[in-house]
Amino acid sequence: MSIYFDNAATTVCGETAAQAVYTAMKEVYGNPSSVHRLGQKAAVVLDRARSDTAKVLNCEAKEVYFTSGGTEADNWAIRSAARTGALKGKKHIISSKFEHHAVLHTLNALEKEGFEVTLLDVYSDGLVRVDDLADAVREDTALVTIMYANNEIGTVQPVAEIGALCRLKGVIFHTDAVQAVGHIPVDVKRDNVDMLSLSAHKFHGPKGVGALYVRQRTPLNIFIEGGAQERGKRGGTENVPGVSGLAAALTEANERLEENAAKTIAIRERLVNALLEIPKSRYNGDPTKRLPGIINFCFEGIEGESLLLKLDAAGICASSGSACTSGSLDPSHVLLAIGLSHEVAHGSLRLSFNERNSVEEADFIIKTLPTIIEKLRSMSPVWEKIQKGGK
Ligand SMILES: *Cc1c(COP(=O)(O)O)cnc(C)c1O
Repeated sequence: MSIYFDNAATTVCGETAAQAVYTAMKEVYGNPSSVHRLGQKAAVVLDRARSDTAKVLNCEAKEVYFTSGGTEADNWAIRSAARTGALKGKKHIISSKFEHHAVLHTLNALEKEGFEVTLLDVYSDGLVRVDDLADAVREDTALVTIMYANNEIGTVQPVAEIGALCRLKGVIFHTDAVQAVGHIPVDVKRDNVDMLSLSAHKFHGPKGVGALYVRQRTPLNIFIEGGAQERGKRGGTENVPGVSGLAAALTEANERLEENAAKTIAIRERLVNALLEIPKSRYNGDPTKRLPGIINFCFEGIEGESLLLKLDAAGICASSGSACTSGSLDPSHVLLAIGLSHEVAHGSLRLSFNERNSVEEADFIIKTLPTIIEKLRSMSPVWEKIQKGGK
């Protein structure tokens, strides 16, 4: 038995998407650049995937560029906007302290190339403040990149307001919407977005495929030199199976957005209410400005990694904010950004779920988790200290 509550890391590929991938591989195997009938059949499938994706985002098909995933889309958008800015002497970029590493590490690289980066504070509610952004924008700001929804704590940023401010100031606005697309309504026009990243495997599509939306007239650099694919900006034979799967999964997710969210929120509220009953527990991030399916809790006196191992032994797949697995003992930069101490941030648990999870699974977690936490605490010197200190 395994209970999968790690959907922010990746999701299972859905039936519709898997079928679309299979059909594209076995039947529509021509190269979209070929003039013959099999090539043209593939070109039609590719065009269809692009227009289906555009429909969901409320943009034109020609504003959609397919990529190898969210990481590539983030790299491409940020590097392109930085280059464009530099040509006009603008070498300042604004982002936030709790972005995904695909964004933060790209910004680090640009800093080494002479760009100046301002990272906005994230408040204890897991949100940035539009006023802070207004204060940070300068004459030489080339780009604002702020994520739509956070992948560790699930909070949803005031994206439309951020976008409106950027438009007013004439600054390019990119948003990493990898956790938002397919889960909450995203509309590039309403949200005043110039560039937006998404990734198929976060909404029941295949892995290794994503897209970058680029608003018309927003300059976009060539990312991969080669053929004329992706409007001459990203060479290489298109991943027709991947983009077919992406479009199928996205269309399905969009059709069922409200229904899926309602189901997911019911699971979320059940979990939250139960986990708040655990002594010295803390629910991270604003309780309402959030995605349906990501919650993050800290349990004092607990080590996140040990908790994950015990949960795994009980058949529950979850995640912790701590980055021990990636070779670092530092707690998550996201939890530190919202003001948690190292000690508290170490005891974090992320549960991420969706409409494919059941209330029964949630109840199993509700039944299992308190016992594991009690056991871990009974062995923890830190917990002993916390209790003696009466904190
Ligand atoms: C998963 C994720 C990414 C990376 O997407 P990939 O397709 O795995 O490269 C980027 N940003 C956020 C917020 C994510 O959750």
